[in-house]
Amino acid sequence: MARRPDVHPELTGDRCSDCNGSGTVIADMGGFKAEVDCSQCYGTGLVNSPNACIECYGCGTVIVDFFGVNVETTCDHCGGSGLEPKTELEGDSKGQ
Ligand SMILES: [Zn+2]
Ligand SMILES: [Zn+2]
Repeated sequence: MARRPDVHPELTGDRCSDCNGSGTVIADMGGFKAEVDCSQCYGTGLVNSPNACIECYGCGTVIVDFFGVNVETTCDHCGGSGLEPKTELEGDSKGQ
């Protein structure tokens, strides 16, 4: 199956039906066709991903408003991996 090379290999989920897992769809941009990130899966090609980053939905980048201009930047929450950082709550029994 097609998966974007920048999507983390450990990211799991169901294949997006909108883009068939490719992460991109063809949009009509006022007369000409352009390939854009799929809005269902945010370009990852996967939906319902249990370990996807909550900030960037697994794509590793977020769009920020930079003085009125949308700029794509690396997601701080996951460091760009697209995976939700694991919290060390489980199995952490060092005693008290
Ligand atoms: Zn999709
Ligand atoms: Zn992220």
